[in-house]
This record gives sequence, structure tokens and C-alpha cells, in this order.
Amino acid sequence: MYEPVALQSDPALFLAANSPDMPVYFFAPTILDAHLAQFRAGFDGLVTFAVKANPDEAVIARLCAGGIAGFDVASPDEIALIRRLCPVAALHYNNPVRSRAEIAFGIAAGVASWSVDDAGELAKLIAAGVADCEIAVRFKLAVGGAAYDFGAKFGADEDAAVDLLRQVAQAGFTPALTFHVGTQCRDPQAYVTYIHAAARIAARAGVTIERLNVGGGFPSARDGTPLDMQRFFDAIHSAVDAFPKRPALVCEPGRGLVADSHAYGVQVKSLRAGRVYLNDGIYGGLSEFPSMIVPRFHVVSHDGVARCGAADPRIVFGPTCDSIDQLPNPLPLPFDLEEGDWIVFSAMGAYLNGVTTRFNGYGDRFSVTVDHL
Ligand SMILES: *Cc1c(COP(=O)(O)O)cnc(C)c1O
Repeated sequence: MYEPVALQSDPALFLAANSPDMPVYFFAPTILDAHLAQFRAGFDGLVTFAVKANPDEAVIARLCAGGIAGFDVASPDEIALIRRLCPVAALHYNNPVRSRAEIAFGIAAGVASWSVDDAGELAKLIAAGVADCEIAVRFKLAVGGAAYDFGAKFGADEDAAVDLLRQVAQAGFTPALTFHVGTQCRDPQAYVTYIHAAARIAARAGVTIERLNVGGGFPSARDGTPLDMQRFFDAIHSAVDAFPKRPALVCEPGRGLVADSHAYGVQVKSLRAGRVYLNDGIYGGLSEFPSMIVPRFHVVSHDGVARCGAADPRIVFGPTCDSIDQLPNPLPLPFDLEEGDWIVFSAMGAYLNGVTTRFNGYGDRFSVTVDHL
């Protein structure tokens, strides 16, 4: 699927020099390094990476070389990927629904922490012989603030979490709590609300938790304004005062760690009145566009010159023959847009390469390492 190309200084130079006939995924490793350094310096706990956000081997290897302590994994394939590329890192198996075969795979791989949100799933872990590890109870609240609500699928409500946490402690596991505020969360207060609820749950259960995993959800600069990540860390650190004995902290950013280090270039195949046809769409690298804020972008001509014409909103279609392969809202493209121009979207490092389909024979792209974006 990938055609790695040697280092280029930036996207416009690469596009002008190579005229690729497919979308191009740009990766600036130095930006990833800077984001990891920010998390490691600013967050007072274990920083892990949620693999599903970007399972690209270059990304995983770079994080491993940068000293990341662990990975949030959700399947045997992700476990095998991490064991191959970063053998010393801790594995946190935080998909709370697992088949018995998947549990056996996790035990054999030495998973250090498992999350549960249901008594039946805890019973499966115990029956499989899971031992000498942490079990984190995943709970959910009805709070907003994020672009996408993770609580809709996973998480025990508060009362159920109290019961589960008691069971985890009674069964002899290292008790922990975890949550996910929802992805691209722009409000530090969402973490505070969850952490206060975690303290309540632990108190009601009568259990002293060893660790609190505050999950992912940290925002990228997708909508233009990079948020000060330290504000999130500071809010988290002071909210933990709600516990009588401070638990150790874990975070598992996906988007917040990796999104800003990638850009995605798609080319204009055809122009019609009020309409633009691109060489990728919602079945490929733009799959998040229907459910999320469309990221910042700039436009360059096929020979690398920036297009600066006034915005002229156009309906945008992807390359497949399916009529739903269309962006949800008109895109404010420059009026002087031409066939062959490139639209380069920013902050595209998360939830792109893991979710691209081969529908209609599309899905190929170049992968290019750049100095800067
Ligand atoms: C997806 C996921 C993450 C990462 O979420 P982001 O919003 O990308 O930071 C973290 N933890 C769990 C359990 C997840 O499923």
C-alpha cells in the first residue's frame, strides 16, 4: 500500500518535483518528537500511545526510539505489532470486549493492564487465568466537550463501576480506573469532571486505586488554534487532589500525540460548475470528515505555487462511484482552483491509515517523510 519516498523538505516541493498520481501522506518526524517531548515533560505519569490512531510502523518506531513507556492496544494484531517494533514497552489491552482467544493471546504477550466495563468480561479474564496484573474499570459519564462521544460504546455507569471496582480488588488484581472523555476534546474541565467522578467511585467502593488512566482525547491543532497542552496537564494534576491518596497517572493520547505531525495531500481530478472531484474521499483518507471538524488546509498548484484566491465554496466529491462519497459541507476553495491542484490538509496524523478502504480500487497513497509541514 505504501511507497516510501526519501526525505523531502516540504509538501509543496515534493508535489512539484514528483507529480504523483495518488494521494500523498506527509510525515514530519520532528513534529512527532516535539509532541512526545511535550507529553513526557508536562504530564506527571506514564505516557502511552493509542495504537489505533496511527499504526504506521514509522510512527511506532519513532515513538519507541523517543522512549515512550507503553501502548494502548485493542487487538492481537496491534499487540503483535508492538511486540515486534517496541518489545520493552508495556501493553495496556484497553478494548473492554475480547473473545477468549484474544484474551489468551494477550496473556501470552504479557499484557500488563486490562480494562473492563462489565462483570461478564471480568469473569472471562478470571476464567482465562489472567493474574499478576492491573485491571482498570472503565466508566462513563454523560459529559460533552469532545468532537465524538466515546461513552456511547464503552464504559460502566457510576453505580456499576463501584461494583466492578470492588470485584477487581477482591479478586486480587491491582485496582485502577479509566475513562475516555471523547476525541478532540478542547475543554480541560471534561477531564476534571471525570477525575472527580473517579474519586467518588473509589470512595464508594472502599478501594484505594493504584493508578488512574485518564485516557486519550487530547486535541490536535486540526481547527487552527493549537491548544496549550500544559493547561490540560495542570487541570488533571490538580483534580487528582480529590483522592485521599494520589494514584499514579497514565494517559493514552492518540490524536493529541500524532495528528499534527502529518498532512495529507489530495489532488483535483476534475472541476465542474460548483463541484470538485478529488482523488480521495470518505472511503479513504477523508473518512473522518463526515463526523469531525474539517481540518485546516491550503492549496498549491501542480508546480508547487500557493493558490491565494478568495474562497469560493464548492461541493467536493471523492473518487469512487458511490454518491455518498462526498464531503458533508461545501469546502471554501480558492476561486482560481484548477485541475491538478493539490489540497493539503493539516493535522491528519490520526485515524487515517488504519481506516482506509480499497473500495472501487482506490486506497493507494504515497508516504513521504518531510522536514517540515
Ligand atoms: C481511541 C482510544 C484512545 C485515543 O483516543 P484519542 O482521542 O485519539 O486521543 C485512548 N484510549 C482508548 C481506550 C481508546 O480507545
